[in-house]
Amino acid sequence: MNPLVSSPSITIDPALQMADGYSASELFAQSSGLTYNDLILLPGHIHFAVQDVQLLTHISKKIALHTPIVSSPMDTVTEAQMAIHMALLGGIGVIHYNNTIEEQAHEVRLVKRYKNGFITDPIVLTPQHTVADIDRIREEYGFTGVPITETGEMGGKLLGIVTNRDVDFVGDRSQALADVMTTNLITAEEGIPLEEAYATLEASKKGKLPIVNAHGELVALMSRTDLRKMRNFPLATKDDRGRLIVGAAVGTRASDWERLTALVAEGLDLVVIDSSQGDSVYQLDMVRRIKSTFPDLQVVGGNIVTQQQAAHLIEAGVDGLRVGMGVGSICTTQEVTAVGRPQATAVFQVAKYAQQFGVPIIADGGVSSIGHVTKALSLGASAVMMGSMLAGTAEAPGEYFYKDGVRLKKYRGMGSKEAMTKGSSVRYFGENSRILVSQGVSGAVVDKGSIRHYLPYIVQGIKHGLQDLGVQSVEDLHQRLRNGFLRFEQRSVAATAEGSVHSLHSYEKNVL
Ligand code: 5GP
Repeated sequence: MNPLVSSPSITIDPALQMADGYSASELFAQSSGLTYNDLILLPGHIHFAVQDVQLLTHISKKIALHTPIVSSPMDTVTEAQMAIHMALLGGIGVIHYNNTIEEQAHEVRLVKRYKNGFITDPIVLTPQHTVADIDRIREEYGFTGVPITETGEMGGKLLGIVTNRDVDFVGDRSQALADVMTTNLITAEEGIPLEEAYATLEASKKGKLPIVNAHGELVALMSRTDLRKMRNFPLATKDDRGRLIVGAAVGTRASDWERLTALVAEGLDLVVIDSSQGDSVYQLDMVRRIKSTFPDLQVVGGNIVTQQQAAHLIEAGVDGLRVGMGVGSICTTQEVTAVGRPQATAVFQVAKYAQQFGVPIIADGGVSSIGHVTKALSLGASAVMMGSMLAGTAEAPGEYFYKDGVRLKKYRGMGSKEAMTKGSSVRYFGENSRILVSQGVSGAVVDKGSIRHYLPYIVQGIKHGLQDLGVQSVEDLHQRLRNGFLRFEQRSVAATAEGSVHSLHSYEKNVL
């Protein structure tokens, strides 16, 4: 508790609080479905500082998160880099499956083997490579400090290291690295604890510390710059062996069983069964089969938007539910199929039902501002899945490009023609469809910088929201939702316009 903030001096009068606005049950007792922008939350009484807000939550029955954010299993959003950083920052990433089984298993492996501070897949060269190769690496990746092994790969015998200092004044760039590399190395042995390795690196005054096994073969590298940045992740989502937690999506075809088995072998923690309409016999069978074969694996079912769909999946044994149909930013499902539900109503109704069984809800799609996250949590969601909000970060797959002077990254729906041509057609059409009707589009989102800065920014925004509500934790928020203490109002179109930026000739909106 912040010492500057005294304990509550005002007693909250429940009768007075309940007189203003509407409870969620009252708000949603109408025939129209509502979306996040249709509603607004009324403020509560603040008696704590913003840093006292806790966002501890669950994404599934057994997996707790300190940050209630999940990155979507889309091929322009989540591969290993995104999943690693989501987990380091207290959330979780779900690796997409628009790839081969081997590729997806590889991404899961990268997350599970990730050691905070240790680089396990550095660029490695042989002594026969040349100074020009170092130039190329510096140009492409912006760094030097390349270990040299006999084989030019990890696992090869470590012979030396080449840094800026070794090559800066070499006139003949075709010279072999054997002639310029530093061979007088300070190394550490495999298994060294992070803190000890850090102390060795610090004492060595070098930029890089190679980690070798008993045979002198290179198994990892530690970098001073990375370590400085990466050292402290107190919120990281980890398993009981200290490894980062990761999710992955699979479908419900026969071949998906083989896929799942390969992912489980890599240490997968959570599987998301990916379907735009999750209440199907295929998914129910898949859930039951997973629960009986891999009882420790957490299973998230979906997508769903009604209580009846939830009931079927809960009965089959899911540990979490993914809620949202046709509301994603890149999605055309409601236009094409006429089926779906406005997201605020879907989240509220499904969460209301599922909470009796202790099954957490992930609100998936349609989040385009931090306020939407706070609204999703206030309606009963335990975590929020995002695609478009995260696709512009450096850790999302793909390269940046410029259009009209703006730095962008590609973002596409998994039901877009472009993604389906690559393989994701089953989610939207079933296995035997011959004609592919797309249910998504392909587009671009603006550069958001690194997730390392962007996610903490989002988290801080959510904390401000909870503070304004006078609520200190997600658990407390859900309790107030249930007992009607959380008060809402519906917004008219004019009210929504009033609540957005207006009446300006021009303005700048900075995301960070
Ligand atoms: P966003 O955060 O961009 O609003 O929505 C992301 C979510 O949209 C994903 O997590 C997924 O549930 C959904 N989604 C992804 N691709 C498609 C698509 O092509 N069509 C539809 N209908 N939904 C999609």
